[in-house]
Amino acid sequence: MSARKQVVIAGAGPVGMAAALKLAKAGLDVTIFEKGDDLSVDSKASTFHIPTLELCEQLGLIEDMLAEGLQVPLFQQRDRKGGVIAQLDLSLLKDETAYPYRLQLEQSKFTRIVKRHLDQFPNAHLVFGTGVASAEDHADFAVAILDDGSRVECDWLIGCDGANSMVRQSFGFEFPGETFAERFLVMSTTFEFRDAMPDLVEVAYITDPDEWMVLLKTPDHWRCLMAVGPQEDDDAAVSDERIQQRLNGVLADVGYPQVDFPIIARSLYRVNQRVAKNFAINRILLAGDSAHMNNPLGGFGMNSGIHDAWSATDVIEAVELRGVDAHKAAQIHGTVRSEVCHSYVQANTKKNFKEMQEKDDSARQQRNAMLRALMDDPAAQAEYLRGTSMLTSAHEAIARVQRELAAL
Ligand SMILES: Cc1cc2nc3c(=O)[nH]c(=O)nc-3n(C[C@H](O)[C@H](O)[C@H](O)COP(=O)(O)OP(=O)(O)OC[C@H]3O[C@@H](n4cnc5c(N)ncnc54)[C@H](O)[C@@H]3O)c2cc1C
Repeated sequence: MSARKQVVIAGAGPVGMAAALKLAKAGLDVTIFEKGDDLSVDSKASTFHIPTLELCEQLGLIEDMLAEGLQVPLFQQRDRKGGVIAQLDLSLLKDETAYPYRLQLEQSKFTRIVKRHLDQFPNAHLVFGTGVASAEDHADFAVAILDDGSRVECDWLIGCDGANSMVRQSFGFEFPGETFAERFLVMSTTFEFRDAMPDLVEVAYITDPDEWMVLLKTPDHWRCLMAVGPQEDDDAAVSDERIQQRLNGVLADVGYPQVDFPIIARSLYRVNQRVAKNFAINRILLAGDSAHMNNPLGGFGMNSGIHDAWSATDVIEAVELRGVDAHKAAQIHGTVRSEVCHSYVQANTKKNFKEMQEKDDSARQQRNAMLRALMDDPAAQAEYLRGTSMLTSAHEAIARVQRELAAL
């Protein structure tokens, strides 16, 4: 057993990296064990919402993020055949935040930005090629057992080791929910969709009862997200022929000639809606996909994971720097983050998935009418945007954790 470490984090994804930087800045000693030999290059999250940008400002990351990302104040709800239903404008929130937009920035770029900052702290240690195989709870301390069998004792362990979290599994925390029959396909192309749809803005949710899609612009390319039906084989779904056929189907619907799409990346993902029964046990806390998973419609998974990281590190800082009761503090993280996950993230992502593919015509018309009405009512639109940008839910949850910690 090596000397006891102050904080160990399992996993150097966006959530583990954000947690590590916050703790390092607070002067705590933090060690991240990452199973991979480098930071992941997976093409997953690319949307940062307003409250996450505000937290990234506090971490000193925002200038680097703005330099590499694309600021997108406008987003559209579209109908695949009917075009724009409503165009919503986050700049309506400009008096409430310094960041009235979505920042389109891939999570693989974000983790590399965080690493550059983390490398400045001698109290932060990032160890690649070393997975956490399991964990033990000893009430007043925890032990991370690494893949090579070595045991690392620590005051705190944060499980940021993603969907198959070994930290979560070590405690037999149930992870109830569902795995979708559909898989989600992400394709990146340098084709300029605005040539085919001149009124398109950088983020568009395109509803359709048969084949919905999301189009997201990043600084380098367009990302297209579509579902793959349960009957379709994985290899067929990602084949050149099938991708060309599907994307050309989108162009055909808007009367644009067929093209040969340059595809620069393609990935197929299983989609889950799951929330761990517990997010905290004594000095072991879960954050991010280790604690909850959701479909990507709305862009809430990584964002809420970074909000979890904020809560977990607020807890650790309160205990280590102010001496509050560790067990009570950990329970605040568990309760608040689980509640916001169920009431906001899960509820809204399920609703978004249903609405993207709504087959009931009257339900579709009703939603479209609600969206169109927002265009003529800036106050109602601003309230709607406070919801879709996580502004209200994240501010409330972060403030609640801090208030309850202050009361201990
Ligand atoms: C197609 C798609 C699009 C998405 N778009 C968005 C979006 O726009 N906005 C948004 O907010 N979310 C989005 N998400 C969700 C988002 O990608 C995840 O919520 C996010 O990656 C979670 O971050 P994390 O750090 O918790 O986990 P991960 O990103 O999974 O990182 C976990 C890290 O832990 C490491 N690891 C795993 N096991 C171990 C172990 N035992 N020991 C040590 N290390 C380990 C892994 O190698 C990895 O580096 C999307 C997801 C998908 C699939």
